[in-house]
Amino acid sequence: MICQRNDDLVDPEDACPRCAERHIDRLIWIDDGEQVRCAACSTIYTPPNRRLEGGDPHAAPTQ
Ligand SMILES: [Zn+2]
Repeated sequence: MICQRNDDLVDPEDACPRCAERHIDRLIWIDDGEQVRCAACSTIYTPPNRRLEGGDPHAAPTQ
């Protein structure tokens, strides 16, 4: 159950805090670029790692 393809999933810590949704297609960035809305349960939250899309883990965080 752990060995699934990871391409379409965000990191566990970025998952929806309410329903644990991890699928990229269901986690939608809001206009301010700081928060994400979970399409599954409508929770809005700020993911610890802001790299749900674009996927460059080496990108420097904003200073
Ligand atoms: Zn959710």
